[in-house]
Amino acid sequence: MAKKQNGTQQMTKQKVSFFWFRRDLRLEDNNGLFHALQSEFPIIPLFIFDEDILDNLPKNDARVTFIYDSLQKINSELNAFQSSILIKKGKTKEVWKSLLEEFDIQSVFFNKDYEPFAIKRDNAISAVLKENNIECFSFKDHVIFEEKEITKADGLPYTVYTPYKNKWLEKYHFLGSALEYDSKPYQSNFAKNQFPFPDLSVIGFEKSTIKVQPHNLTKIGNYKETRDFPALDSTSYLSPHLRFGTVSIRKLVNWANRKNQTFLSELIWREFFIQILFSFPNCVNHNFKSAYDGIQWRNNEDDFKRWCSGTTGYPMVDAGMRQLNETGYMHNRVRMVVASFLCKHLLINWQWGEAYFAEKLLDFELASNVGNWQWAAGTGCDAAPYFRVFNPEIQQKKFDEKGEYIRKWIPEFDFGYNEPMVDHAFARDRAIAAYKDGIIK
Ligand code: FAD
Repeated sequence: MAKKQNGTQQMTKQKVSFFWFRRDLRLEDNNGLFHALQSEFPIIPLFIFDEDILDNLPKNDARVTFIYDSLQKINSELNAFQSSILIKKGKTKEVWKSLLEEFDIQSVFFNKDYEPFAIKRDNAISAVLKENNIECFSFKDHVIFEEKEITKADGLPYTVYTPYKNKWLEKYHFLGSALEYDSKPYQSNFAKNQFPFPDLSVIGFEKSTIKVQPHNLTKIGNYKETRDFPALDSTSYLSPHLRFGTVSIRKLVNWANRKNQTFLSELIWREFFIQILFSFPNCVNHNFKSAYDGIQWRNNEDDFKRWCSGTTGYPMVDAGMRQLNETGYMHNRVRMVVASFLCKHLLINWQWGEAYFAEKLLDFELASNVGNWQWAAGTGCDAAPYFRVFNPEIQQKKFDEKGEYIRKWIPEFDFGYNEPMVDHAFARDRAIAAYKDGIIK
């Protein structure tokens, strides 16, 4: 088919289809890619560095380095089929418009992303493609059950985790396992192109010294007993890999179902928050329970700075924040302690903490971050009750009895450590009073 180029010039181009990588950075068990490769036309794999996202990030953002490295890996795998990935940078709509000029595109395949920003973006791109008579196909890949697949009997979304999990498990066991998608038989359908792979500096970034750790499932043998103890380092480190799709959730869930039900429950928490965000997109910047809108937060900026820098004088809080600042990761138990401390002890709006985590976490995922922050603040769908105020010292005694975790991140701990910035009993009473006064009856 001949298509217009530069408005006037006509030339014959090969008919192709596109697979658009986003948060699914792998060739293995990739639902959208599996379907794309079975389509009639050669598949050009594409990734767009989206300026709407990138423009807000520091030049050495560790997530961008991880994405870049993952794309490089995909590219070298594609080279084995004389293919390569096309990397673009720009505003997605503009990039697609230029691709329409450059190629004779027959159809576009991608996996669904359930975040509000992504839904809006994908609707806009699909509309542009449809205007050009290009078929668009989207697939479920990021979760086992999406959108309205798990609902209450009345069709409404679950807002409490345990019944959601029970229904999720019932549905999963009915299926037997999650179907995995093996693209290998179809890999000859990758378009034979050698696109240049740009240097990271061309994208406007530099390599970060902070690295995503490889995930490690061998650590979770005694997950139920060990997962809450940060010094044991016995969790999987899967979170950034799930965030960017360098592992398949289907393979993981099938594995977890055979090996470890407690671990499976954590993967279901992830899906619970994804379906909450999908059903209640407003929760990104509003309390899930509007009854909590009346809380008078102190929002003291100096207190916030001490929390961010890990200098509150509460070792468990400070160790966690320093781990986050230095590595882009924090153990889950410690995340709960630091989040509770910010909202309750310092009476700072959970949105400040959520934004700081979003900036720093390698595994930042909107659904899990907002869901867990609202859980800690007591404003969320299935949240900790407002009068439950973690005592950071007791948490430390319980989960880091020998102080191994805190000494790792606070080298000066044994040499005269800071006094707590606020007394626990005072802060607890102040928080409970502020919540009580603020709750709209
Ligand atoms: P593992 O214990 O090995 O768990 C395996 C996987 O289960 C995780 O990778 C994750 O996908 C899922 N999971 C475990 N716990 C939770 C949970 N509470 N909620 C949702 N999914 C869970 N997780 C993120 O992926 N992104 C975030 O932005 C994020 N923000 C958080 C903010 C706060 C305040 C809190 C308390 C928790 C947050 N979590 C977030 C959840 C959890 O802390 C991390 O998923 C976990 O620490 C990642 O380490 P891991 O992969 O070794 O966990």
